[in-house]
Amino acid sequence: MDAISAIVAEIAEEMRAQEHRGKVADYIPPLAQVPADKFGIAVVMRDGTVHTAGDAEDPFSIQSISKVFALTLALGAVGDQLWQRVGREPSGSAFNSIVQLETEHGIPRNPFINAGAIVVCDVLLGRLQPREAIGQMLRFVRMVAGDETIVIDEVVARAEQETGFRNKALANYMRAFGNIHAPVDLVLGTYFHFCSLAMSCRQLAMAGRYLMAGGQSDGHSVISDRRARRINALMMSCGHYDNSGDFAYRTGLPGKSGVGGGILAVAPGIASIAVWSPGLNSSGNSHLGQLALERLVQKTGWSVFEPR
Ligand code: GLU
Repeated sequence: MDAISAIVAEIAEEMRAQEHRGKVADYIPPLAQVPADKFGIAVVMRDGTVHTAGDAEDPFSIQSISKVFALTLALGAVGDQLWQRVGREPSGSAFNSIVQLETEHGIPRNPFINAGAIVVCDVLLGRLQPREAIGQMLRFVRMVAGDETIVIDEVVARAEQETGFRNKALANYMRAFGNIHAPVDLVLGTYFHFCSLAMSCRQLAMAGRYLMAGGQSDGHSVISDRRARRINALMMSCGHYDNSGDFAYRTGLPGKSGVGGGILAVAPGIASIAVWSPGLNSSGNSHLGQLALERLVQKTGWSVFEPR
Protein backbone atom coordinates (compact mmCIF):
# COMPACT_ATOMS: atom_id res chain seq x y z
CA MET A 1 0.00 0.00 0.00
CA ASP A 2 1.47 3.41 -0.88
CA ALA A 3 1.61 6.38 1.50
CA ILE A 4 -1.60 8.11 0.40
CA SER A 5 -3.63 4.89 0.41
CA ALA A 6 -2.41 4.21 3.94
CA ILE A 7 -3.37 7.74 5.08
CA VAL A 8 -6.82 7.48 3.50
CA ALA A 9 -7.42 4.08 5.15
CA GLU A 10 -6.23 5.43 8.51
CA ILE A 11 -8.58 8.39 8.30
CA ALA A 12 -11.56 6.17 7.43
CA GLU A 13 -10.77 3.99 10.41
CA GLU A 14 -10.45 6.96 12.72
CA MET A 15 -13.76 8.39 11.50
CA ARG A 16 -15.55 5.06 12.00
CA ALA A 17 -14.56 5.17 15.66
CA GLN A 18 -15.96 8.68 16.26
CA GLU A 19 -19.00 8.85 18.48
CA HIS A 20 -20.07 12.38 17.74
CA ARG A 21 -21.26 12.44 14.12
CA GLY A 22 -23.56 15.46 13.90
CA LYS A 23 -27.19 15.41 12.83
CA VAL A 24 -28.49 14.10 9.49
CA ALA A 25 -30.50 16.73 7.56
CA ASP A 26 -34.22 16.03 7.87
CA TYR A 27 -35.82 19.06 6.23
CA ILE A 28 -35.61 17.22 2.89
CA PRO A 29 -37.42 13.94 3.80
CA PRO A 30 -35.38 11.44 1.69
CA LEU A 31 -32.14 12.76 3.20
CA ALA A 32 -33.40 11.85 6.68
CA GLN A 33 -33.40 8.15 5.62
CA VAL A 34 -29.64 8.04 5.01
CA PRO A 35 -27.79 6.02 7.71
CA ALA A 36 -25.72 8.31 9.96
CA ASP A 37 -22.86 5.82 10.24
CA LYS A 38 -21.73 6.18 6.62
CA PHE A 39 -18.27 7.55 5.88
CA GLY A 40 -16.47 7.64 2.57
CA ILE A 41 -13.33 9.30 1.22
CA ALA A 42 -11.79 9.45 -2.26
CA VAL A 43 -8.57 11.18 -3.27
CA VAL A 44 -7.65 11.60 -6.95
CA MET A 45 -4.03 12.62 -7.44
CA ARG A 46 -2.82 14.82 -10.27
CA ASP A 47 -1.31 11.79 -12.01
CA GLY A 48 -4.75 10.13 -12.02
CA THR A 49 -4.15 7.67 -9.19
CA VAL A 50 -7.29 7.15 -7.10
CA HIS A 51 -7.27 6.24 -3.39
CA THR A 52 -10.52 5.38 -1.62
CA ALA A 53 -11.69 4.07 1.74
CA GLY A 54 -14.97 3.44 3.55
CA ASP A 55 -18.23 4.00 1.66
CA ALA A 56 -16.50 5.74 -1.25
CA GLU A 57 -18.63 4.01 -3.90
CA ASP A 58 -22.05 4.80 -2.36
CA PRO A 59 -23.96 7.51 -4.24
CA PHE A 60 -25.30 10.33 -2.05
CA SER A 61 -27.15 13.57 -2.70
CA ILE A 62 -24.48 16.16 -3.52
CA GLN A 63 -26.87 19.05 -2.75
CA SER A 64 -24.98 22.35 -2.58
CA ILE A 65 -21.78 20.93 -4.01
CA SER A 66 -23.65 21.26 -7.32
CA LYS A 67 -23.35 25.04 -6.84
CA VAL A 68 -19.70 24.76 -7.92
CA PHE A 69 -20.68 23.09 -11.19
CA ALA A 70 -23.57 25.51 -11.76
CA LEU A 71 -21.22 28.45 -11.23
CA THR A 72 -18.76 26.94 -13.72
CA LEU A 73 -21.54 26.65 -16.32
CA ALA A 74 -22.89 30.18 -15.68
CA LEU A 75 -19.42 31.75 -15.96
CA GLY A 76 -19.03 29.84 -19.22
CA ALA A 77 -22.36 31.24 -20.45
CA VAL A 78 -22.09 34.92 -19.47
CA GLY A 79 -18.55 35.42 -18.09
CA ASP A 80 -17.95 38.24 -15.61
CA GLN A 81 -21.38 39.75 -16.28
CA LEU A 82 -22.56 37.23 -13.70
CA TRP A 83 -21.08 39.45 -10.98
CA GLN A 84 -23.64 42.16 -11.67
CA ARG A 85 -26.24 39.84 -10.15
CA VAL A 86 -24.39 37.98 -7.41
CA GLY A 87 -21.57 39.02 -5.07
CA ARG A 88 -18.29 37.39 -4.08
CA GLU A 89 -18.25 37.94 -0.31
CA PRO A 90 -18.71 35.39 2.47
CA SER A 91 -22.18 35.80 3.88
CA GLY A 92 -21.61 35.02 7.55
CA SER A 93 -25.25 33.87 7.50
CA ALA A 94 -26.99 30.53 7.18
CA PHE A 95 -27.12 28.76 3.80
CA ASN A 96 -30.80 29.59 3.35
CA SER A 97 -30.79 33.06 4.91
CA ILE A 98 -32.97 35.84 3.52
CA VAL A 99 -31.83 38.71 5.78
CA GLN A 100 -29.08 40.26 3.65
CA LEU A 101 -31.27 40.34 0.56
CA GLU A 102 -33.29 43.22 1.96
CA THR A 103 -30.41 45.62 2.60
CA GLU A 104 -28.50 44.44 -0.47
CA HIS A 105 -31.37 44.95 -2.93
CA GLY A 106 -31.88 41.34 -3.90
CA ILE A 107 -28.21 40.72 -4.77
CA PRO A 108 -27.04 37.57 -2.91
CA ARG A 109 -23.65 37.71 -1.20
CA ASN A 110 -22.13 34.83 -3.18
CA PRO A 111 -23.00 31.97 -5.57
CA PHE A 112 -22.59 29.27 -2.89
CA ILE A 113 -25.50 30.20 -0.63
CA ASN A 114 -28.98 29.17 -1.77
CA ALA A 115 -30.02 32.67 -2.90
CA GLY A 116 -26.86 33.00 -5.00
CA ALA A 117 -27.24 29.58 -6.58
CA ILE A 118 -30.86 30.35 -7.46
CA VAL A 119 -29.69 33.48 -9.33
CA VAL A 120 -27.03 31.36 -11.08
CA CYS A 121 -29.82 29.01 -12.26
CA ASP A 122 -31.81 31.99 -13.50
CA VAL A 123 -28.77 33.16 -15.48
CA LEU A 124 -28.55 29.73 -17.15
CA LEU A 125 -32.25 29.95 -17.99
CA GLY A 126 -31.54 33.22 -19.83
CA ARG A 127 -30.35 30.99 -22.69
CA LEU A 128 -31.83 27.56 -22.05
CA GLN A 129 -35.11 25.90 -21.17
CA PRO A 130 -35.09 24.15 -17.76
CA ARG A 131 -34.89 20.73 -19.41
CA GLU A 132 -31.88 21.86 -21.47
CA ALA A 133 -30.16 23.41 -18.44
CA ILE A 134 -30.64 20.21 -16.43
CA GLY A 135 -29.37 18.15 -19.39
CA GLN A 136 -26.37 20.46 -19.74
CA MET A 137 -25.54 20.04 -16.05
CA LEU A 138 -25.80 16.26 -16.23
CA ARG A 139 -23.61 16.13 -19.35
CA PHE A 140 -21.07 18.46 -17.74
CA VAL A 141 -20.78 16.46 -14.53
CA ARG A 142 -20.54 13.16 -16.43
CA MET A 143 -17.87 14.65 -18.69
CA VAL A 144 -15.66 16.04 -15.87
CA ALA A 145 -16.08 12.88 -13.81
CA GLY A 146 -15.49 10.67 -16.88
CA ASP A 147 -18.53 8.65 -15.79
CA GLU A 148 -21.72 8.24 -17.79
CA THR A 149 -23.55 6.46 -14.96
CA ILE A 150 -24.14 9.62 -12.86
CA VAL A 151 -27.86 10.43 -12.48
CA ILE A 152 -30.23 12.88 -10.83
CA ASP A 153 -32.33 11.41 -8.01
CA GLU A 154 -35.88 12.37 -8.97
CA VAL A 155 -37.23 11.36 -5.53
CA VAL A 156 -35.00 13.96 -3.88
CA ALA A 157 -35.84 16.58 -6.52
CA ARG A 158 -39.56 16.03 -5.98
CA ALA A 159 -39.20 16.20 -2.19
CA GLU A 160 -37.32 19.48 -2.49
CA GLN A 161 -40.04 20.83 -4.76
CA GLU A 162 -42.66 19.89 -2.17
CA THR A 163 -40.84 21.16 0.92
CA GLY A 164 -38.61 23.98 -0.33
CA PHE A 165 -40.64 26.84 1.09
CA ARG A 166 -37.63 28.91 2.11
CA ASN A 167 -36.11 28.58 -1.35
CA LYS A 168 -39.44 29.69 -2.82
CA ALA A 169 -39.39 32.69 -0.51
CA LEU A 170 -35.82 33.56 -1.54
CA ALA A 171 -36.63 33.31 -5.24
CA ASN A 172 -39.81 35.36 -4.97
CA TYR A 173 -38.07 37.98 -2.86
CA MET A 174 -35.26 38.35 -5.40
CA ARG A 175 -37.81 38.47 -8.17
CA ALA A 176 -39.41 41.46 -6.42
CA PHE A 177 -36.01 43.21 -6.71
CA GLY A 178 -35.79 42.28 -10.40
CA ASN A 179 -32.94 39.80 -9.85
CA ILE A 180 -34.89 36.74 -11.05
CA HIS A 181 -36.09 36.96 -14.64
CA ALA A 182 -37.52 33.55 -15.54
CA PRO A 183 -40.70 32.22 -13.84
CA VAL A 184 -39.85 31.33 -10.24
CA ASP A 185 -41.17 27.74 -10.52
CA LEU A 186 -38.91 27.02 -13.48
CA VAL A 187 -35.85 28.50 -11.77
CA LEU A 188 -36.48 26.46 -8.63
CA GLY A 189 -37.24 23.27 -10.57
CA THR A 190 -33.82 23.64 -12.20
CA TYR A 191 -32.13 24.44 -8.88
CA PHE A 192 -33.71 21.43 -7.12
CA HIS A 193 -32.64 19.10 -9.93
CA PHE A 194 -29.05 20.32 -9.69
CA CYS A 195 -29.07 19.75 -5.91
CA SER A 196 -30.42 16.22 -6.47
CA LEU A 197 -27.43 14.92 -8.42
CA ALA A 198 -26.42 11.63 -6.82
CA MET A 199 -22.69 10.90 -6.82
CA SER A 200 -20.22 8.79 -4.90
CA CYS A 201 -17.03 10.14 -3.33
CA ARG A 202 -15.08 8.58 -6.19
CA GLN A 203 -17.25 10.26 -8.84
CA LEU A 204 -17.13 13.60 -7.05
CA ALA A 205 -13.37 13.57 -6.56
CA MET A 206 -13.00 12.70 -10.26
CA ALA A 207 -15.34 15.57 -11.17
CA GLY A 208 -13.21 18.02 -9.14
CA ARG A 209 -10.05 17.29 -11.16
CA TYR A 210 -10.49 20.37 -13.35
CA LEU A 211 -10.35 22.60 -10.26
CA MET A 212 -7.23 20.82 -9.02
CA ALA A 213 -5.43 20.98 -12.37
CA GLY A 214 -5.77 24.61 -13.53
CA GLY A 215 -8.95 23.93 -15.50
CA GLN A 216 -7.67 20.77 -17.25
CA SER A 217 -9.27 17.35 -17.08
CA ASP A 218 -8.32 14.24 -19.06
CA GLY A 219 -6.10 16.40 -21.26
CA HIS A 220 -8.97 18.79 -22.20
CA SER A 221 -9.28 22.39 -21.13
CA VAL A 222 -12.61 22.56 -19.25
CA ILE A 223 -12.09 26.18 -18.12
CA SER A 224 -9.15 28.59 -18.14
CA ASP A 225 -6.56 28.39 -15.35
CA ARG A 226 -7.58 31.87 -14.23
CA ARG A 227 -11.20 30.81 -13.83
CA ALA A 228 -10.19 27.67 -11.93
CA ARG A 229 -8.13 29.82 -9.53
CA ARG A 230 -11.07 32.15 -9.01
CA ILE A 231 -13.59 29.37 -8.36
CA ASN A 232 -11.15 27.89 -5.85
CA ALA A 233 -10.86 31.30 -4.16
CA LEU A 234 -14.65 31.46 -3.81
CA MET A 235 -14.76 27.92 -2.45
CA MET A 236 -12.15 28.85 0.14
CA SER A 237 -13.94 32.04 1.23
CA CYS A 238 -17.62 31.03 0.84
CA GLY A 239 -17.85 27.23 0.45
CA HIS A 240 -19.08 26.38 3.96
CA TYR A 241 -21.74 29.06 4.59
CA ASP A 242 -21.27 30.76 7.97
CA ASN A 243 -18.63 28.18 8.83
CA SER A 244 -16.32 29.08 5.90
CA GLY A 245 -13.69 30.89 7.98
CA ASP A 246 -13.42 27.98 10.37
CA PHE A 247 -13.10 25.44 7.53
CA ALA A 248 -10.34 27.53 5.91
CA TYR A 249 -8.59 27.85 9.27
CA ARG A 250 -8.71 24.12 9.90
CA THR A 251 -7.82 22.83 6.43
CA GLY A 252 -6.37 25.64 4.32
CA LEU A 253 -8.18 24.14 1.32
CA PRO A 254 -10.89 25.38 -1.04
CA GLY A 255 -13.96 23.26 -0.35
CA LYS A 256 -17.69 23.11 -0.93
CA SER A 257 -20.13 21.29 1.30
CA GLY A 258 -23.69 20.10 0.84
CA VAL A 259 -26.42 19.17 3.32
CA GLY A 260 -26.26 15.57 2.04
CA GLY A 261 -23.00 15.40 4.03
CA GLY A 262 -20.55 15.58 1.12
CA ILE A 263 -17.59 17.93 0.76
CA LEU A 264 -15.50 18.45 -2.37
CA ALA A 265 -12.08 19.86 -1.50
CA VAL A 266 -9.23 20.86 -3.78
CA ALA A 267 -5.48 20.82 -3.11
CA PRO A 268 -4.44 22.81 -6.22
CA GLY A 269 -1.85 21.01 -8.31
CA ILE A 270 -1.93 18.01 -5.98
CA ALA A 271 -5.30 16.30 -5.46
CA SER A 272 -9.07 16.46 -5.73
CA ILE A 273 -10.74 15.07 -2.63
CA ALA A 274 -14.29 14.07 -1.76
CA VAL A 275 -15.52 13.04 1.68
CA TRP A 276 -18.99 12.03 2.80
CA SER A 277 -20.62 11.54 6.16
CA PRO A 278 -24.30 12.53 6.51
CA GLY A 279 -24.21 13.97 10.05
CA LEU A 280 -24.02 17.77 9.94
CA ASN A 281 -22.79 20.48 12.29
CA SER A 282 -25.01 23.44 13.18
CA SER A 283 -24.05 25.27 9.96
CA GLY A 284 -25.15 22.37 7.73
CA ASN A 285 -21.64 21.04 6.97
CA SER A 286 -20.57 17.42 7.40
CA HIS A 287 -19.07 17.08 10.88
CA LEU A 288 -16.86 14.09 10.12
CA GLY A 289 -16.20 15.28 6.58
CA GLN A 290 -14.58 18.44 7.92
CA LEU A 291 -12.67 16.49 10.55
CA ALA A 292 -11.43 14.01 7.95
CA LEU A 293 -10.15 16.81 5.73
CA GLU A 294 -8.45 18.45 8.70
CA ARG A 295 -6.69 15.15 9.43
CA LEU A 296 -5.75 14.69 5.77
CA VAL A 297 -4.05 18.09 5.70
CA GLN A 298 -2.27 17.42 9.01
CA LYS A 299 -0.92 14.17 7.58
CA THR A 300 0.00 15.44 4.09
CA GLY A 301 0.72 19.19 4.44
CA TRP A 302 -1.59 19.90 1.46
CA SER A 303 -2.85 23.27 2.79
CA VAL A 304 -2.48 26.00 0.15
CA PHE A 305 -0.68 27.99 2.86
CA GLU A 306 2.07 25.41 3.26
CA PRO A 307 5.34 27.04 2.13
CA ARG A 308 6.65 25.04 -0.87
N1 GLU B 1 -31.12 21.71 -1.76
C1 GLU B 1 -30.69 22.28 -0.51
C2 GLU B 1 -31.55 23.47 -0.17
O1 GLU B 1 -31.85 24.20 -1.05
C3 GLU B 1 -29.25 22.64 -0.61
C4 GLU B 1 -28.70 23.15 0.67
C5 GLU B 1 -27.29 22.73 0.94
O2 GLU B 1 -26.78 21.72 0.50
O3 GLU B 1 -26.66 23.48 1.69
O4 GLU B 1 -31.92 23.72 0.92
